[in-house]
Amino acid sequence: MHEFPCPPGLVCRPTFWNIPGFLEIVVYVGGILAALVFLYGMWQRVAHWRKGKGKFAWGPLDKRIAQWLTMGVATKKVVLDKLTPGLMHLGIMWGMAFLFLGTAIATIDWDITKPLINPTQWRLLQGDFYYYFKVVLDVFGLFALIGIVVAFVIRYGVKPERLDGRSGKRYFREDLWIIGSLGFIVLTGFVIEILRLAAQPTETALLKERVMYCTTCSVVGWPLSRLIAGVDLDTLRALHLGTWVVHMIVALVAAGAISYTKLSHLVVSSVNTFFQKLEPAGALTKIADIENQETFGISKLEEFTWKQLLDFDACTRCGRCQDACPAALTNKALSPKNIIVKMFEVAHAKTQDAIHGQVIDAQELWDCTTCMGCVNACPVAIDQLGTIIEFRRYLTLSEGAPQPPSNKTMDSMERQGNPYGLPKADRHKWMQGLAVPFADADTEYDVLFWVGCAGAYDVRAQKISKAFVKIMQQADLKFAVMQEERCNCESARRLGNEYLYQMATAEIVESLKQYKFKRIVTTCPHCFNTIVNEYPQFDGKFDVVHHTQLINELITDKRITPKRTSNGTITYHDSCYLGRYNNIYDPQRAILRALGANGNLVEMTRARANGLCCGGGGGRMWLEENTGKRINNTRVEDVVAVNAQTVASACPFCISMLDDGAKALNVDEKIARKDIAELVAEAL
Ligand code: SF4
Ligand code: SF4
Repeated sequence: MHEFPCPPGLVCRPTFWNIPGFLEIVVYVGGILAALVFLYGMWQRVAHWRKGKGKFAWGPLDKRIAQWLTMGVATKKVVLDKLTPGLMHLGIMWGMAFLFLGTAIATIDWDITKPLINPTQWRLLQGDFYYYFKVVLDVFGLFALIGIVVAFVIRYGVKPERLDGRSGKRYFREDLWIIGSLGFIVLTGFVIEILRLAAQPTETALLKERVMYCTTCSVVGWPLSRLIAGVDLDTLRALHLGTWVVHMIVALVAAGAISYTKLSHLVVSSVNTFFQKLEPAGALTKIADIENQETFGISKLEEFTWKQLLDFDACTRCGRCQDACPAALTNKALSPKNIIVKMFEVAHAKTQDAIHGQVIDAQELWDCTTCMGCVNACPVAIDQLGTIIEFRRYLTLSEGAPQPPSNKTMDSMERQGNPYGLPKADRHKWMQGLAVPFADADTEYDVLFWVGCAGAYDVRAQKISKAFVKIMQQADLKFAVMQEERCNCESARRLGNEYLYQMATAEIVESLKQYKFKRIVTTCPHCFNTIVNEYPQFDGKFDVVHHTQLINELITDKRITPKRTSNGTITYHDSCYLGRYNNIYDPQRAILRALGANGNLVEMTRARANGLCCGGGGGRMWLEENTGKRINNTRVEDVVAVNAQTVASACPFCISMLDDGAKALNVDEKIARKDIAELVAEAL
């Protein structure tokens, strides 16, 4: 029975020990069938994605490969963002990968090199190489097993809201099947090894053969095999053969089922990271030739793009996006995870219900603050926000049903050029007495100051504009305001009104092009984002900075020298449109340190890329917030939690939301809300 030939004096792999020859053939036939079933399923998926609109975006290849390696292979986000589930995933993923790789190497050893080279002379899996090969496989098998147990405990013991929650229990059974089968495969793999190692010493002694199999290299199997070393040989062999048969059946069925279950994320999620959007994260897709479109946004399956269909398939239902969502966090109807899961069901005809009104309630869509928390949190590069915006476009432009009162606001944007419904003529009143010039087409300026509607009309935000003017004047910057400035309607775009946005953009880009300036500066992150990331879609390429970037430059270049002041404990609230949208986190903190905030600069638990939205983005500033808890109150609670006496921000809308939150929580007197420009201007 000792039929694993090894070169003299070397240990080698006891492949197919105790397995009858006919089962060896059966397992190869089963393996080929499983591979074919897997490939057919994958081919069906690709065919499904190809039904979507648009063409697969392959380039630029170097960037795509780089993001695939970091997100798809190294699974950076999975590991870094949530440590325990991250390590659990790492254990399962690399454990299973190494076991698969080990099986592939063993197949080469047995079926390719053995028939070609006399195995008593040379084997691929022999000597030291086999020794370490076996150590590595045992260790990674153990990692996989631990990962699977942790997954089971999280999924069915801890039961975090993000895993079940809004999408209900409908995937409970599939998840159980997957965790159960993976656990069964790894566990029975170890049992087979333990039974073999328990039997082989007895068998070798009986046959008076040299011991050519390795014992101590089975770092998990060998010690455990000693526990059953006394069991008689026939029993061990029968148990080994029985376990091997069941193990192979489950392994082959699971391999074939990869393409048809959540296990497909092994391939599909990884592919999705390769195709992740490469355009600026903050830029919404332009509706080309809008005048001649008959329908807008998405209301039917055939209107999704190939990338959206791929997104829906790539979702692992991990719920990280739901955890990051301010709307879900405050018990509103929206869960970005649920949107994607429901669209997966629509895409695969698991429901025949209409997308709008039946599968998705409009309230879910209007709850979104476009904070991009979900996109940032998703470990497999799904663009939940892009899909939500397409649905909003349908509601607003095709059905003519934007959520009130935003329709009134959009009307004001169109007629009065501002969302407040105030007279056009009042736009520049805030500048009275400040010696701020209007731009003149014949003069070249250091910066054109784009004030934005809040900075121009909102009494609180006007203070920020004035503070910033004081800073620019102290720095002796040559700046001007554009007389033709009007609302850029970026919030209308995010409410789905692309038509209004494009109309305003065409007008503004044309106006801006009349003037000579090195850069545009704005105190509003929303204006900043749309000018820097979206105007290039309309032939408007401008060098744009946010006022905090400019102030930081002025301090670094010593063009202004603010006094170091002490404002007590201070914290900084990241604006989504500066932070997650444009990756600008540091200038604001550098300015606060320049103002003397060092040890007393504290970070909230949710800060930088994980910062919590104020609740005002995506047009939510113009909508009622009648469901769940108010998002701005939740954010002020974060400020209270770090005992800050001042919360600094860099967005007029954030300041407004924080002001309201502070009043609602009765901390109006205790916590000052200040824009960075105000703090600097006070220190000049
Ligand atoms: S963009 Fe923000 S509010 Fe909208 S679904 Fe994503 S996380 Fe939620
Ligand atoms: S969309 Fe992304 S983050 Fe959300 S559940 Fe799916 S995989 Fe997880």
